[in-house]
Amino acid sequence: KPPYSPAEVARLKELDRTVVWHPFTQMKEYSSEGAPIIAAGEGCYLTDIEGKRYLDGVSSLWVTVHGHRVPAIDQAIIEQLHQIAHSTLLGLGNVPAILLAEKLVAITPPGLEHVFYSDNGSTGVEIALKIAFQYWQNTGHPEKKRFLSFYNAYHGDTLGAVGVGGIELFHHIYGPLVVHSLKAPSAYCYRCPYGHPGKDTCNRECFAAVAQLVEAHAPELAAVIVEPVIQAAAGMLVWPEGFLGHLRQLCDTYGVLLIADEVATGFGRTGKMFACEHEGVSPDLLVVAKGITGGYLPLAATLATRKIYEAFYADYAELKTFFHGHTYTGNPLACAAALANLRLFEEEAVLNRLQPKIKLLQTLLEDFRELAAVGDVRQAGFMVGIELVCDKKTREPYPLARRTGHRVIRKAREKGVIIRPLGDVVVLMPPLAISDEELRTLCAVVAASIEEAV
Ligand code: PLP
Repeated sequence: KPPYSPAEVARLKELDRTVVWHPFTQMKEYSSEGAPIIAAGEGCYLTDIEGKRYLDGVSSLWVTVHGHRVPAIDQAIIEQLHQIAHSTLLGLGNVPAILLAEKLVAITPPGLEHVFYSDNGSTGVEIALKIAFQYWQNTGHPEKKRFLSFYNAYHGDTLGAVGVGGIELFHHIYGPLVVHSLKAPSAYCYRCPYGHPGKDTCNRECFAAVAQLVEAHAPELAAVIVEPVIQAAAGMLVWPEGFLGHLRQLCDTYGVLLIADEVATGFGRTGKMFACEHEGVSPDLLVVAKGITGGYLPLAATLATRKIYEAFYADYAELKTFFHGHTYTGNPLACAAALANLRLFEEEAVLNRLQPKIKLLQTLLEDFRELAAVGDVRQAGFMVGIELVCDKKTREPYPLARRTGHRVIRKAREKGVIIRPLGDVVVLMPPLAISDEELRTLCAVVAASIEEAV
């Protein structure tokens, strides 16, 4: 498309500031500052309506895998459009949804055999919570109706997901609206709740704390829900090695279901197709979304074991049906995009090619540790959090009003890189397809932006 005229640019900018209510955004700030309005994309780059190009440093909120405008995915959607854009999955099948379910069962950890579709990570989580709850109802254990989750957890913004969420800033305001889960400590090792800030002194108190909670509450617990390997929206908090396996064991010992929320970590993000693979863990329920369509269309899937599925499989009059479904559940266009995305993973050996890039990123991140304002650098594969602090020695955070993370991303934007922080944690989450050179540019721009902004 030819560039927008100055009049069109002005009109779009005005409307964007005044009519669109942006998610997770203080509109007072946004309406005075504005932001780029994206009109196009290609590879790892986005282009705004004024023709300025930006490196997409957070994969358009953690979803883009092979880049933007990938011919094979574009083509799969076009071909599906020539067939049908949507038909309901409530009581009818559709071809891409069937083929994708087969594929997801094949590539996810062993034991997950049934696929329930929805449209985004939050709904995928709601489904997992409701299935876990009803599983115990259907199998004659109505007392098992509570959930255990973790401080600093983020599972989405719908009310069930908020109930198992643990980020004060996002979740406390909705407290009166939700059913609260039991909360176990998270492994914010840089600010260790047990006062052991460092791997050498770690006493694994968080392992013991969750064990105590599961043991004490097992009779009333339906499930434990966890973000495997790394709590993403918390600011990229990496669990100590072995934590997921420990949870699996606890759940097995005490008869509690394990829900793995791989909305952020799924589809290669941590260096393996799914983060659960790092510890050889198969959850009872697995939630995937974000990267499932390669960043093209909204889609989520909640996978369940046969044991869970069979607890719902009965004569209608027994009322064991899972009464849940969204209008666009199993949308054929989104499923066709997901199938093309997964084909590319295989054809282009994406995971193999990713390994040296993860190492390069690790090396590039070393330089950040030298910066005066950087307190901690955390990485799991292609998920990175750089925590900014106003005093490196005392680890004192910047005051909220200073908006340090926000200032960094605005500096980066001026330099042609789009990132989005989590408070004062600068997040890097590049498309898996990013080149070495682009990765170097991303890190160099972000480092310079941190130095300028603080
Ligand atoms: N679960 C996790 C681990 C997430 O990181 C997110 C989103 O960031 C969600 C759930 C919610 O997904 P969505 O924003 O698609 O509703």
